[in-house]
Amino acid sequence: MPVPGSWQETARAARLLNPDGGIATTIFTEMSALATRTGAINLGQGFPDQDGPQIVLDTAKKAIDAGVNQYPPGRGTPELLDAVIDHQKRFYNLALDTDNVLVTAGATEAIAATLLALLSPGDEVITFEPYYDEYAAVIALAHATQVTVPLSYPAFTPDVQSLQAAVTPRTRAIVINNPLNPTGTVFDARVLQQIVDVAVTHDLLIVSDEVYEHLVFEGLRHIPISTLPGAFERTITISSAAKTFSVTGWKIGWLSGPAELVSAILTVKQYLTFVNGAPFQPAVAAGLRLDDAFYTSIAAALQRKRDILVEGLEAAGFGVAPSAASYFVVADTAPLGYPDAELLSRELPELVGVVGVPVSAFASEKTAQSYRSLLRFAFCKRESVLAEAATRLTKLRR
Ligand code: PMP
Ligand code: GLN
Repeated sequence: MPVPGSWQETARAARLLNPDGGIATTIFTEMSALATRTGAINLGQGFPDQDGPQIVLDTAKKAIDAGVNQYPPGRGTPELLDAVIDHQKRFYNLALDTDNVLVTAGATEAIAATLLALLSPGDEVITFEPYYDEYAAVIALAHATQVTVPLSYPAFTPDVQSLQAAVTPRTRAIVINNPLNPTGTVFDARVLQQIVDVAVTHDLLIVSDEVYEHLVFEGLRHIPISTLPGAFERTITISSAAKTFSVTGWKIGWLSGPAELVSAILTVKQYLTFVNGAPFQPAVAAGLRLDDAFYTSIAAALQRKRDILVEGLEAAGFGVAPSAASYFVVADTAPLGYPDAELLSRELPELVGVVGVPVSAFASEKTAQSYRSLLRFAFCKRESVLAEAATRLTKLRR
């Protein structure tokens, strides 16, 4: 144990995230490393194995050649700010101005800057559970407390009574992720309005992570919570180029909301990364301006991939939760005789040459147990890769 008051002890932020000291790698890093080490098919970390639209890639290359290589403006490149504004109008009939928008280093920085800017020490923040791991980490870094509202396998549908019961006088914000990673749940208009009503009643902020907004299946429509009555003035909406344009390594994200909140977030953001990705910003702007056929085609292609993996998982004997969106599907390993998915995730490459991520990694200690036999698989891979993974997984039955 470090001496109290020593510099070792005051490595506070790191200790908040990993009390044992050292580097606590995220589950995604760990599982990708496992896949690389074993040569297994990586259905763990969510990244596509094919490039996105050529025009997006070409625009970035041209921007580099044209000398777009120095610091872009702090709020974002005008072309991208305009493209985000037009995108919100075109898809959701939301009218935004430049001061409602901020470009960030991926949705990751948007989430971090938002929570660091808007939370005070001692605030409580409600998230549904399972939740994207970053929320817990940043809430801790802000000296705030995460309060979770667990969702249950297999439907993972939010329940407003549980949400209401989680509110206390200290509650400052509700963080939602719609569509939800890791389950692929899409929140319908009724659920979203119930969340808004709770937020209005208790005067709470809403932070809405919508990075999978365009990857929604079966003709379902994504509804940004900020479009519902009473929501806009208290909501920060976050999205990213990563998933929509298959450029997870570019780290271009954006957020939008009321100008005063966005301005507070910009104040923090400029000391996190200042700016990023100058040549990628016009490229993402070109992507956001692609026609409707592009957007329909990415959802349809991913839906086919989901079907291949889901059919494979079912044939292999897994229980499978419905996934209506995102890159992900949750499977239950208990019917195959594996009650501990965390253990299984470490053995899976050895057993059948596939990697998945345990859903317990998206849960607090108190809830992890109820997700014990659940694994998340990513289907953002080529159809042939998914078919091969499905074949391999059939060998798991014992
Ligand atoms: N939110 C969710 C729900 C995610 O799955 C991810 C992972 N891509 C992010 C945020 C981070 O997005 P980005 O890569 O744009 O930082
Ligand atoms: N969002 C991706 C996932 O859920 C991974 C992001 C990351 O590696 N941090 O798999």
